[in-house]
Order: sequence, then structure tokens, then C-alpha cells
Amino acid sequence: MSEVLVLVDHVDGEVKKVTFELLTAARRLGEPAAVVVGAPGSAAKAKDALARHGAAAVYVAESDEAADLLVTPKVDVLAALVGSAAPAAVLVAATAEGKEVAGRLAVRVGSGVLADAVDLDGEGVATQSVFGGAYTVKARVTTGVPVISLRPGAVEAEESAGAAAEKTVEVPAVDPARAVRVTRREPVTGGDRPELAEASVVVSGGRGVGSADNFAIVEKLADVLGGAVGASRAAVDSGYYPHQFQVGQTGKTVAPQLYVALGISGAIQHRAGMQTSKTIVAVNKDPEAPIFEIADFGVVGDLFQVAPQLTEEIGKR
Ligand code: FAD
Repeated sequence: MSEVLVLVDHVDGEVKKVTFELLTAARRLGEPAAVVVGAPGSAAKAKDALARHGAAAVYVAESDEAADLLVTPKVDVLAALVGSAAPAAVLVAATAEGKEVAGRLAVRVGSGVLADAVDLDGEGVATQSVFGGAYTVKARVTTGVPVISLRPGAVEAEESAGAAAEKTVEVPAVDPARAVRVTRREPVTGGDRPELAEASVVVSGGRGVGSADNFAIVEKLADVLGGAVGASRAAVDSGYYPHQFQVGQTGKTVAPQLYVALGISGAIQHRAGMQTSKTIVAVNKDPEAPIFEIADFGVVGDLFQVAPQLTEEIGKR
């Protein structure tokens, strides 16, 4: 069975959930092989979690440079592995960085690339949600080793024992002219809440929330559900919530198990970032709001009454 390379998304060896989703999808196509590019010691930290999620092999590409340089070492390592391991496909997370890696890698190895897939079958056919979610497209790469970026949350991660046999890979020296160096890292946190793109529950507020202070209502509901807080662009532009929490075409893409939209109309640009969520609950006082077209459960009502009641009821359980 051919290997399917999975680029591990991690911070100092702490593996992000999307990697486990990629390993699950990779099993449909062949034998998953995780590729850890990072600082020395990263793979050792990541190995157990990768083994639990079915990685048959772990390619270890570690150096101080690999940790400090953006994108380029990952592309170099993956390109070398495409040449030496002849994998069936390469899967990366459809994050800002992952999409850049995918594009550069495809050009480098002369392959086709499929960006931002929301599903992948055993024949290598990827499902993509395009034009702000207005169309669903199924496509397959026909040239070279398929390079596919998969949207976080699109595939449910499943555990499966893997040998995680380590194989060391040399990180090629990067030409300084091509290198972009990381100068500072600042964690974006929402307190103790899970990271927005990784959360299995997201509660978002829109312009209907009315003020920054009122966003406490959104946060309280998110907290009883153990979820992350998101916001529409109108809420962000109005200064109700910081930009890093914006969901949508020009914000983050999320696909949690549960997405709750409070006071959000459901413009196409917002839907583009959340409509592949498994269950969508909308609270809006306008029965004609477009968000109800995609909601699994809709409450026509005032969020200032509905959300606190929901928070209280859920808090009792
Ligand atoms: P509105 O459309 O104003 O809707 C507010 C809703 O709240 C209404 O439906 C109203 O009925 C309801 N409401 C009001 N009060 C209450 C209450 N008390 N109880 C219950 N409901 C109430 N938008 C994004 O979100 N993300 C993006 O990434 C994004 N990118 C964009 C990119 C481009 C190029 C462009 C042109 C636009 C983009 N937008 C994006 C903006 C988008 O078009 C909408 O303007 C925006 O999503 C609207 O946000 P909203 O739903 O919060 O506000």
C-alpha cells in the first residue's frame, strides 16, 4: 500500500486536532505517514499522539532553521519526500500556512493541487465548497502526486493504532533569498476557551449583539458549552469583538460539531466560513433572515432573552 504523507500541524510538538483529521482521511487512500517539520525534539513529543491516530511512519525533519523559517522548509522536505517515497498523495491542513505550503509544493513537484477540500473519498476525489459555499464541486488531481489541503473540522478524527516508525529526513539548507524568518510568536487566546478553528463548538455573535459589553452574553453561552467565541465581520468592524475571531470569507473558516449564530443575518461571506458546520443553530428576531436557510434549528426571537435562557438551562445539566 502506498504512503499518504500528512504534514503535521503542531506548535513545538503539540499536535493540532486537524492533523488527526488528516490522518483519518489519509487512511482512506493508503498508509498514513506523518511528516514533522520543526525544532529538535518536536517529533518525540508528537509521536504518541500520531501513533494513536494511525500514523504508520513518522518522518522526522528537525533543525533550528526548520522552526524559525516560515513555509519554505516544509515545502523543501515534502518535495524531497515526494521524490524519494513516491506517496499516493500529500495532505495538509487548509490553514493560511497549509494552503501556501500546498500551492508551493504542487508547483515544485509539477502536481495538481486541490485547495480547501471539505471531504475526500478513497478514490482521491475531493469535495470542495466554492463561491462562498454556493456550489459543491467534486474534483480529482490527474497530474502528478495529488496535493490536497483539507479544511479543519471537515473530517471527524478517529483513533487507530499505528506503528509510527521513525524515519529521519534531512532538512535541506534554505537559500536566504527564499527564506522568511519568524521574528515573534504571539499566541492568540480567548482565555481558557478552545482555539476557534479547532473548537468542536463555536458560538458567534453578529451586529444584533449590539455592543462590546453585550458580547458577554455570547461568551457565557460559549463557556457553558465548552466552546470558542466567533464574530461576524459587522460585529468586528463595529468594535464589538477582536478581528482574530472573525468567521467568514475574510476571517477564519470553522466546521465545528455545533455552530450557534446569535444576531447574525447569514450573509454569503459569513456562510462561507461556517456552513460546513455539522449542526447550525440560529437565533434571530427576523424570520426572513438568510441564516435560517442553512440552520438545522432556528429560533425566531430576541437573542437577549433566548441566549441567557439557553445558558441557564445548559448550565443546570
Ligand atoms: P447584519 O447583516 O446587520 O445582521 C444582523 C442580524 O441581527 C439581523 O439579521 C437582525 O435581524 C439580527 N438581530 C438584530 N437584533 C437582534 C436581536 N436582539 N435578537 C436576535 N437577532 C437580532 N462577513 C462576515 O461575517 N465574515 C466575513 O469574513 C466577511 N467577509 C466579507 C468580505 C467581503 C469582500 C464583503 C463585501 C463582505 C464581507 N462580510 C463578511 C460582510 C457580510 O457581507 C455582512 O455584511 C456581514 O456578515 C453582516 O454581519 P451580521 O450578520 O452580523 O450583521
